[in-house]
Amino acid sequence: MFQNRPDRDTEIVLVGRSNVGKSTLMRLLTGHKKFNTGKKPGVTRQPNHFDWAPESFMITDLPGFGFMSGVDEDHREEIKTNIVHYIEENADNIMLGVLVVDGKSVIDIIDRHTTDETIPHDVEMFYFLRELGIPVVVAVNKMDKVDDKDERLNDLADRLGLAPPWKQWQDVICPITAKRGNIDTLNEALREHAHANKRDDLLKFF
Ligand code: GDP
Repeated sequence: MFQNRPDRDTEIVLVGRSNVGKSTLMRLLTGHKKFNTGKKPGVTRQPNHFDWAPESFMITDLPGFGFMSGVDEDHREEIKTNIVHYIEENADNIMLGVLVVDGKSVIDIIDRHTTDETIPHDVEMFYFLRELGIPVVVAVNKMDKVDDKDERLNDLADRLGLAPPWKQWQDVICPITAKRGNIDTLNEALREHAHANKRDDLLKFF
């Protein structure tokens, strides 16, 4: 199990496959602060709690799920089980889940992993958070690599069970390019959720 969770009463969790750009995004959200997270390059296996703010607030980068080179199948399952338990145990304190996906590859990955018996990790995580009553924002990263943006985002909405056009869901689907520091849509969504949670003291962070 994951241990050492700081005692903070408002938390945002980032979830997503490995390599979608969670670390890049986290650096932007935390104002480029340097953290000694003990992270091994490439693979994060423990939550990284970013609790730099004096306010009772933190952002937690949960380990990447799905394929990870150098990590065997059993260990991948164990990491995913730990993520699920962590979210269940802390659901009352989690203000928002940010599901980070790679805009270029997400549709192919979802479609490849959808069968009669299985649903892909990304879609599963989206529904899992919502079933626990945790609102979810989907940060669709690497949009600089996507040409047919509206089409791609419409497909993503469809796969998440949100009727296209995606523009109806701009409070949920946030196209970003973290590498270039372009995360305005996500910041807007984070501000809305902070406000809805009566945490206007957090607006300055987004
Ligand atoms: P993590 O494994 O999810 O933490 O992903 P990282 O933040 O380490 O990023 C994985 C790779 O994607 C790195 O090579 C990043 O430079 C790259 N990357 C992150 N954000 C973007 C983006 O917006 N556009 C593009 N093209 N690449 C990105």
